[in-house]
Amino acid sequence: VTNLRIPGPTPLPPAVVEAGTREMINHRGPEFAAIITDVTKRLKRWFQTEQDLFLFPSSGTGGLEAAVVNSFSPGETVLGISIGVFGDRFREIGEAYGLNVIHMDVPWGHAADANDVSSLLDQHPDVKGVLITHNETSTGVMNDIRSVGEAIRGRALYLVDGVSSVGGVPIETDAWGIDILVSGSQKAWMVPPGVSMVSVSQRAWEANRNAKLPRYYWDFKRAKSYLERNQTFTTPTLSVFYALQAGLDMMDAEGMDAVFARHRRVAEFTRAGITQLGLQLFAEPSHASDLVTAVKMPEGVDGSALSKAMRTERNIVLGGGQAGLTGKIFRIGHMGYVKEADIEDVLVSLEAILPRLRQGAHAVTAG
Ligand SMILES: *Cc1c(COP(=O)(O)O)cnc(C)c1O
Repeated sequence: VTNLRIPGPTPLPPAVVEAGTREMINHRGPEFAAIITDVTKRLKRWFQTEQDLFLFPSSGTGGLEAAVVNSFSPGETVLGISIGVFGDRFREIGEAYGLNVIHMDVPWGHAADANDVSSLLDQHPDVKGVLITHNETSTGVMNDIRSVGEAIRGRALYLVDGVSSVGGVPIETDAWGIDILVSGSQKAWMVPPGVSMVSVSQRAWEANRNAKLPRYYWDFKRAKSYLERNQTFTTPTLSVFYALQAGLDMMDAEGMDAVFARHRRVAEFTRAGITQLGLQLFAEPSHASDLVTAVKMPEGVDGSALSKAMRTERNIVLGGGQAGLTGKIFRIGHMGYVKEADIEDVLVSLEAILPRLRQGAHAVTAG
């Protein structure tokens, strides 16, 4: 089997694969009502929220768009904090809908500082909302959502992209003052792509009442009225719901603390192994992600040659660098269904392949 080490979609446990192959059912009938009730209730615990949580048939980006269009009106000002590709994306959604997005840019590889967020809010008292990424999958950096939340509390809506974090690391929606938190099934949940999860606070509902941005598919009010009947507005991605229920069975059996501890352990194992190979980590150590590790491309090594050798010789699929990091880093995903042995396989293979690629580069230069 392929060792799929991209940061989503992540590998599926056999029980999840099997659940996903079940026959279709009436999505307006009692079986689906039981599934959505169960899944929603259990997800709320992983989100640490007692407020509303909606499931949309979409990838994670759809959930981010839902967060934006349900919260603001055209021309309103928001603060978009970006530490990488996905922070940029959240802002682009706001800009596409005509919001005035103030940019806070943090050098890639680093996390946002809560004091900087606080000063920007002092300078721009008209800011209605803050958009931020929890786990920046493109750089392997995790923002401190709790401390940034303290800087924002009571001053603006707090919208968090937790697409690749929720389910793998602790995040306390209600306690940390998060108004909308978005996640995606294909990341830490070890489920195929196709369900986005969106929690909505009481304050987000108050903003929603006056929010004039156009919306149809993503309308929270309609989502709520359907959820009250234990349904979704459109046809749900049924197979992914089956899989999600099976994934949650496994996660709940393992236990929340044990799942988080495993991610932490595997991440530390990854970082230690990479360092032992003489390679350099891309993320600032104090905010290194427990879900994905970005590694600087060693001097003289061609990124596409590395990923090809790993794939064809070792059956390991690594993540590449995105946008400005193309060819400069490679990424090892370790979220969801992952254990140390999966990473050991990557480390042993890197050790075998890298010297040859370095020599190859040297030979080319010399020739
Ligand atoms: C994967 C990811 C997304 C985008 O999710 P899609 O499912 O590809 O739409 C957004 N934000 C983060 C942090 C991600 O890791």
